[in-house]
Amino acid sequence: MSDRATLLAGLRELASNLRWSFDDRAGGLFEELDPLGWRASGRDPAVLLETIDDRRLELALAHPDFADRVAAAVDELEAYVTEPDTWYAGTDGDPRRTVAYLSAEFALADCLRVYSGGLGALAGDHLRSASDLGVPLVAVGLAYSDGYFRQHLDGSGWQQESPATNDFPSMPVRPVMARAAGDSAPERLTVPVELGDGTVQVVAWEVTVGRVRLFLLDTDVEGNAHHHRDITSQLYGGDNDTRLRQELVLGVGSVRMLDALGIRPAVYHLNEGHAAFAALERLRVHLADGAGFEDAVARVRDEVVFTTHTPVPAGHDRFEHGAAAWHLTPLAERAGVGFDQLWPLAVDEHGWWSQTVLAIRTSRSTNGVARLHGEVSRRMLAPVWGDRGADDVPIGHVTNGIHPGRWVGRELQKLYDWHLGPDWRTTVDPQLWQRIHEVDPAELWQAHRLARHRLIGEARERLLAQARRVGRGPDGFGLDPDALTLGFARRFATYKRATLMARDVDRLAAIIGDRDRPVQLLIAGKAHPRDEAGKHLIKHLVELSRDPRFKGRIAFIEDYDLDLARLLVSGVDVWLNTPLRPFEASGTSGMKAAANGVLNASVLDGWWDEAVADLAPKARVGFGWVIGDRSEDGDQDHRDGRDADAFYRVLTEAVVPTFADRDGDGVPRTWVQMMQDAIALLAPAYSTHRMVVDYVTGVYDRRPVDATADAGPA
Ligand SMILES: *Cc1c(COP(=O)(O)O)cnc(C)c1O
Repeated sequence: MSDRATLLAGLRELASNLRWSFDDRAGGLFEELDPLGWRASGRDPAVLLETIDDRRLELALAHPDFADRVAAAVDELEAYVTEPDTWYAGTDGDPRRTVAYLSAEFALADCLRVYSGGLGALAGDHLRSASDLGVPLVAVGLAYSDGYFRQHLDGSGWQQESPATNDFPSMPVRPVMARAAGDSAPERLTVPVELGDGTVQVVAWEVTVGRVRLFLLDTDVEGNAHHHRDITSQLYGGDNDTRLRQELVLGVGSVRMLDALGIRPAVYHLNEGHAAFAALERLRVHLADGAGFEDAVARVRDEVVFTTHTPVPAGHDRFEHGAAAWHLTPLAERAGVGFDQLWPLAVDEHGWWSQTVLAIRTSRSTNGVARLHGEVSRRMLAPVWGDRGADDVPIGHVTNGIHPGRWVGRELQKLYDWHLGPDWRTTVDPQLWQRIHEVDPAELWQAHRLARHRLIGEARERLLAQARRVGRGPDGFGLDPDALTLGFARRFATYKRATLMARDVDRLAAIIGDRDRPVQLLIAGKAHPRDEAGKHLIKHLVELSRDPRFKGRIAFIEDYDLDLARLLVSGVDVWLNTPLRPFEASGTSGMKAAANGVLNASVLDGWWDEAVADLAPKARVGFGWVIGDRSEDGDQDHRDGRDADAFYRVLTEAVVPTFADRDGDGVPRTWVQMMQDAIALLAPAYSTHRMVVDYVTGVYDRRPVDATADAGPA
């Protein structure tokens, strides 16, 4: 391969499949081609290739092996998408049993801003693992033209929001076209969705994620009423009415779009209640096929499965009777039933239309996303089953995971490729990860140090740009690439208690300000635009970072996104998590950290609660630290005080001394052994490969209906 056209064609081929976003062997080529252009493009290969100048391409062609590596990556991609010998094929999985995975958000790449946080990250990793394992899965979401906002902080530390626009026509997504009749020009494939005030036409964009296809539904089409065109414009933006409209488009539209494409799923997986209206559309289809109402409901229950994602009540969508009736009556009429017949499927104990209740009553299984969350959900959702005690509520759990290839930083990727072999990216065999114990501690430490150095370099740059923009001095220059570095990044929801660590500023200052054992803390995260309380927490932390005692030691990095997330979870030494138990359903950023050998220090909530219970006994030294205990006694102020005290104690008594304890070569031996335990035990257990296997074998596969009662897999 030697000419410019061939090189560009190869790069375009790589850009057209989002596999580049979870395999650095392809993704890294774009950055290598033009590091500055790559940044300027917002890490968007399509934009990069559009704007790249000829000189860059000449340089790439003159490079001894760049063009060959592009060609090799194209071959590798081709081999990947056509590989017949997948995990799924190996289990004799039926390739025709298609799973439709429906979700309001997908975090695939920062240049495709159709996600806001954890739910999207999980959905994105679900697709990546389904692709790697060869599971016949298609996904449907919404094509938001305004993605979740970009975050900047003003001079006072107050969050400013700017739009993150998705311009689909110029993105690596394809419009879904209808097969043209005769020789008429091809047109967009369109499906109708009935709403209270008329029918909206829905089109789709197709995104390729390895072997998996994702369809993003869009109502911004000519011919739709003006106020219908922007139904899909904002992610979690509008009021309750917009939310209802969006969920009708997602639920009903996804079933119809897949049908129009000739895809006949055997299973519909509702990733959170947002997509629950899919069940009503399936009900309509079964009624149209001649089933009676009860029978039609039973058939729907046979094909739908539901994952609930949060114990926070505000996370469960509910609508007033009048609003639900108005928007659902046209669909009900088309199904030949009245709205009154649908109402009992969704009404909760307070008389609201609840998407969670609808999803539960129309699915054959409901699961939470960690063991503790399963328990909490059984208690919280028991009223849906009337008089049943929580122990008899048939809600199980499948603990979340993360896609290792997506989240491990490049330094550790190299080390894993070398010592574990490239299969670490796709294997479902936990044994492979045991080989990390054979790696020379000095080598593992060196790889991690390089990751930290890269993080600190990047953090300084970002902090400098942030400070310049608001006319301040360079706050970030105190950061030390060799200091013990703590990371805390997540949504600023109040139950996550981002400011718990600052409850006793003097104690925090004593830890952070230690001259002999320097400690620094990097913070990131967005507050929802309407969450004033969350914005105050951010401001509080920014102010703290400017306190002379913390200057250069605590830094808030703006605009938390996937890229920043990976930089942080691979470059810090310790990942902090201090939610109010039991409100963190699972949490996944700590899993990303663990796959990088980063040690978690966390409250016993979400996934950490079960990781500590199940796997800590198998660790040689320990894979992290527990903050506090399982007690949920006392009012919140009391609990905050107790957990903050536990936090300071864990840092001073365990984290700081273990980090400081070096051998003659400067390697912290015990620390590195802990890193090895974290990688060997947590990376395989909390990977989405394991999670997708659990879903396929325990949830997607048909099992006798009463078997769902025994709490499910995992
Ligand atoms: C992984 C991830 C999350 C979810 O992390 P939690 O631990 O569940 O808070 C949120 N946002 C981004 C950008 C992520 O990458």
